[in-house]
Amino acid sequence: MSIQNDRYDIAVIGAGAAGLAASIFSAEAATKGDRSQRIVLLDGAKTIGAKILVSGGGRCNVTHEVVTSTDFFGNRHIIKNVLAAFSVEQAVKWFASLGVELKREETGKLFPVTDKARTVLLALIERCRELGVEIQPNHRVDKIEPVTDHNHGFSIHHSQGVLQARKVILATGGRSIPKSGSDGFGYSLARRLGHHVTATVPALVPLILEDTIFHKQLSGLSHEVEMTTMVKGRKVDCRTGSLLWTHFGISGPVVMDASRFWTVGHEQGETVEVYGNFLIGQTQEQAKSWLMVQAMDNPRRSLLKTWAQQIPERFAEALCSHVECDPKTAVAQLPRKNRDRLLAALTKFPFPIDQDRGWNYAEVTAGGVPLEEIDFRTMESKLVPGLYLVGEILDCDGRIGGFNFQWAWSTGFLAGRAVTPCNQ
Ligand SMILES: Cc1cc2nc3c(=O)[nH]c(=O)nc-3n(C[C@H](O)[C@H](O)[C@H](O)COP(=O)(O)OP(=O)(O)OC[C@H]3O[C@@H](n4cnc5c(N)ncnc54)[C@H](O)[C@@H]3O)c2cc1C
Repeated sequence: MSIQNDRYDIAVIGAGAAGLAASIFSAEAATKGDRSQRIVLLDGAKTIGAKILVSGGGRCNVTHEVVTSTDFFGNRHIIKNVLAAFSVEQAVKWFASLGVELKREETGKLFPVTDKARTVLLALIERCRELGVEIQPNHRVDKIEPVTDHNHGFSIHHSQGVLQARKVILATGGRSIPKSGSDGFGYSLARRLGHHVTATVPALVPLILEDTIFHKQLSGLSHEVEMTTMVKGRKVDCRTGSLLWTHFGISGPVVMDASRFWTVGHEQGETVEVYGNFLIGQTQEQAKSWLMVQAMDNPRRSLLKTWAQQIPERFAEALCSHVECDPKTAVAQLPRKNRDRLLAALTKFPFPIDQDRGWNYAEVTAGGVPLEEIDFRTMESKLVPGLYLVGEILDCDGRIGGFNFQWAWSTGFLAGRAVTPCNQ
């Protein structure tokens, strides 16, 4: 069904997590205030919710048991205020009210008890329908014009025609997985309305390594590493977690979380170095002492079997060969030069990063509309009265673990509640 020259109280643009939440909260606030208002939720995609469905490996990691501003990058003062307005506890209760019970996993991540992302998407859509939100897929917005002669409201030009709305909530997401509909066009809409957009780069993205190393032969192997990122020689990040070797390079939680430091630095034209310490918590000196004890206690044990006590054997073999040490050498026979090369590679391995894996594989966007241009109590634009911005379009990205969805729910809550007439 297409809509022509219709008038709405609120038009929400983008039916992802943030747009669905904002629609529900604004419709609920109107119901509570005993006001009727027409809300339309427009999305360019033919079927909505693609990103919710693929999230969390198809299980949707809805939020995390503890969410603080330090789990995000962006203006942390503003992020803290936004998160405080709609906490994890509120999110859990809200989902329960939608019929979605959440369970906590060991890592602190919260998932629906059904282990199905579809449960989350269907509950959000169902609640929109109950509240009378008109969901319009296949309505891609290409222009938003403030209606100056009436001193308020907007004309929204979309692929099926034009509609009028008193208020607009822009929830068009970022650039990750462009085929889902989030192709970055929302930034152009925001720009044309007068907003700035900081440089956008892929975040939570796997990294492609130069073909000079052994990642292909280790494809599928994962193990713990301490990963350090240096930009212009200064340490900007250090984190420990699971690294997954793949046919193209490296992935896994620690790599995904660290990737934004590489992409941001690279985008700024800086020298970025990423190192791995595979002997977590040990310096090269400490590792050397350990090796010397091994050489005394088990002098004939091979280098491979010796290191296999600390790291996966397949990795030990690949790394030994990479630094030109024969893995079969008896540990006590290892020439000092070779030993030092191997110890350096084990504790400060320079990952030869060629590029990130790009928008088709990034889970989120770093950069976007600056949070300083938004009133964090309402998510209303400070530049365009009546315009609200929510979700990933804003310059805020969270680490892996449900934080990006929590940002979508919290910003959707604030805008939804503020946009309804009963709150004015
Ligand atoms: C593979 C993957 C797994 C993920 N897993 C998790 C997870 O488990 N937990 C977590 O917290 N986060 C996860 N994320 C991140 C999370 O999905 C996003 O941060 C979140 O979906 C952003 O929500 P949003 O509503 O702001 O944007 P989006 O979900 O991107 O929604 C934006 C919507 O706007 C529409 N749109 C765009 N432009 C227009 C236009 N011009 N006109 C009309 N409509 C338009 C798009 O079609 C889209 O439906 C994952 C992301 C990916 C890619």
